[in-house]
Amino acid sequence: MLSFIDTHCHLDAPEFTADRDAVVARAQAAGVQTLVVPAITAGTLDLTLAMRRAYGCPLALGLHPIYVDQHDTAALTTLRARVEQEMPVAIGEIGLDFFVDGLDRERQLEVFRAQLKLALEFDLPVLLHVRRAQDEVLRELRRYRPRAGIAHAFNGSRQQADAFIKLGFKLGFGGAMTFERALNLRRHAVELPLESIVLETDAPDISPEWAYKQRNEPAYLPRIATVLAELRQIDIATVAAQTSENARQVLGPVAITKPMAASLPQ
Ligand SMILES: [Zn+2]
Repeated sequence: MLSFIDTHCHLDAPEFTADRDAVVARAQAAGVQTLVVPAITAGTLDLTLAMRRAYGCPLALGLHPIYVDQHDTAALTTLRARVEQEMPVAIGEIGLDFFVDGLDRERQLEVFRAQLKLALEFDLPVLLHVRRAQDEVLRELRRYRPRAGIAHAFNGSRQQADAFIKLGFKLGFGGAMTFERALNLRRHAVELPLESIVLETDAPDISPEWAYKQRNEPAYLPRIATVLAELRQIDIATVAAQTSENARQVLGPVAITKPMAASLPQ
């Protein structure tokens, strides 16, 4: 069976509270061997850490720009202590969101910079959230130079994609690529080097076309990979192997999810 890495799955989200074991079991049954779980706030770090204890998920620890109002100095101090104690595979989910109204841009920049410094201090890659802020994020990356990372849910121009790749980044398109009208993403999916692409679901958000307006889940990853394979007219085994290799290049030799009991409901 082919094996896949979901490089961005919010398994700790409340949407999965009722049936998380079954969600993980379905992902494993579909060949998704590794779920990388990114944190979002200091207040929910314990929940994120529980995903590693329960399922063996590799973690990214960080403060998400959407929740910038919660990221005070104490939150950054808590984050640093947790990174030091827990040794995540990356700092994330961090970045800039200039799309959502009412988020303090200056504070976003301060929190982003503090976390880029953290990535340098612990020599970790970064998982990036970038919305309407591609050039601003690129500018900070050129300034701080984290050693590698993933631009998650990428939807910038070709020029911006090339700039991320030049800085050692991989790009994730996720389920958004499965929509026929996603012309920009589909062009990237075909034209960018396969060596620069990773797979992700962003579950429970950004559902693929076949689960539109429903909860997204990591078991959909192989079908997202199939769309990528069809767009590039290559076989799915090549997509599985190369995207997993790309993820390991950035994140290191990530753990495989603990096997769930076979008796769990599918
Ligand atoms: Zn996310």
